[in-house]
Amino acid sequence: MALYRKVALVTGGAQGIGRAVAEALLKNESKVALVDLNTKVGEDCKKVLDQEFGEGNCIFIQCDVADRGKLKDAFETTVEKFGKLDIVINNAGINNEKNWEKTIEVNLTSLIKGTYLALEHMSKEYGKDGGVIINVSSMAAFLHSPHQPVYTATKHGVIGFSRAMADAAEEGDYGVRINVLCPAFVDTPLLQSIEQEDNMGKFIKYKDVFKEKIHKYGVLQPSQIAEGMLKLITDSGLNGAVMKITCSKGIHFHTYEPLSA
Ligand code: NAD
Repeated sequence: MALYRKVALVTGGAQGIGRAVAEALLKNESKVALVDLNTKVGEDCKKVLDQEFGEGNCIFIQCDVADRGKLKDAFETTVEKFGKLDIVINNAGINNEKNWEKTIEVNLTSLIKGTYLALEHMSKEYGKDGGVIINVSSMAAFLHSPHQPVYTATKHGVIGFSRAMADAAEEGDYGVRINVLCPAFVDTPLLQSIEQEDNMGKFIKYKDVFKEKIHKYGVLQPSQIAEGMLKLITDSGLNGAVMKITCSKGIHFHTYEPLSA
């Protein structure tokens, strides 16, 4: 898929990884809807992107992805503004072991809703022209961590759901590819949340184990994640792919053994 004049919706697009992806898409002349909970950060982000890429290429929509009605409206607003939808990046995520139900709601339930809404706007099943969905998981889905049990569970869930949906898309000829991105540690505000008791609850006591892991594996920049994201979007051969990005190996793919009978 070429990115010129494509329309993308990015949840959690106002900062961190989402913002870097939005920038990369705008650089490639796509139109972008930043869908984010945080009004101040979202408006500031849009202002900077408008200055860099010109007005009219980017909109900010304040929305809690956990609010089903608001998320539906965000998709509709994007299509009303730009006339279509080609790319959906379900990226919004939180790290909260204290309010773990909320973590499941934002990281997994809302990502599922985002995927279904994306299909309503892009799948041939609904008479649309096709597109691509990228769901953001994490290397936490591969590395067990004593400090983030529920976060880890949600990121496993993202992979299982997305791969099954990628099969459904292929079987059902949706014209939509569905891929997963698993970054290792990335230099964003989310990474700092491991130091906060409000986020980690009783698992805060393992924060030094976590910091040792960060030290061992290193920290990526959001722009490196955006580079992987663009590959997942543009490579039309990728469906059900699980991309990993780490400091030691860079961009690479998880391989799955075929099931033997
Ligand atoms: P971040 O905290 O920097 O940015 C997340 C954005 O999502 C924020 O702008 C926030 O306002 C928004 N958001 C949070 N809850 C929301 C909600 N309910 N509705 C709408 N928007 C909401 O985080 P990040 O590091 O950029 O993380 C982005 C994604 O990458 C997440 O899914 C995260 O789990 C994943 N990830 C991050 C890392 C890392 O080390 N930073 C590593 C692997 C995976």
